[in-house]
Amino acid sequence: QERLRRIRDRVRPFPDFPEPGVLFRDISPLLKDPVAFRTLIDLLEDHVRASCPKIDLIVGLDSRGFLIGPPLAQRLGIGFVPVRKKGKLPGATESISYSLEYGKAELEIQSDAVEPGQKVVIVDDLLATGGTMCAACELLKRLKAEILECLVIIELKSLKGLEKLNSIPFYSLLQYD
Ligand code: 5GP
Repeated sequence: QERLRRIRDRVRPFPDFPEPGVLFRDISPLLKDPVAFRTLIDLLEDHVRASCPKIDLIVGLDSRGFLIGPPLAQRLGIGFVPVRKKGKLPGATESISYSLEYGKAELEIQSDAVEPGQKVVIVDDLLATGGTMCAACELLKRLKAEILECLVIIELKSLKGLEKLNSIPFYSLLQYD
């Protein structure tokens, strides 16, 4: 599809970043090109309207989920909730630590950010091992949110992150091996 190709053309591969052996997919060119970025939000909006018509909130993951979550939420006329790295959010929070390829990380959400039963879609730029998305899902489950879907621009297929999400619905615009 023409629109998807326009987006794929604005994702730049960087070998050996942030460490040797990793091929990093950089979405900076996509953010810099207003036509491509609008097309991205168009495609995400169309998808969510079709797949998740009863959505209450978009939840975005620190930090590139903050770049696509708010414009998408605005299009849908709904609110946005941030899931942040540890220590950034004031007030009562739920937190979860999870393992990265090297070491550990911790994510937090404000305890009152989502009402029990609210229907959410969780967005991020990219799914790799799935550890980040999986941890975010756990936080949302603790707040008794109903997760309609996990949504990303890019899925790195070979890392099998999808398996970690178990039966939670998942959608990606672009896939790489
Ligand atoms: P995971 O937890 O699935 O292994 O890693 C996904 C998280 O790391 C996402 O929040 C994503 O922003 C970041 N990430 C990992 N690899 C890449 C990459 O190649 N490109 C970009 N843009 N983000 C990445």
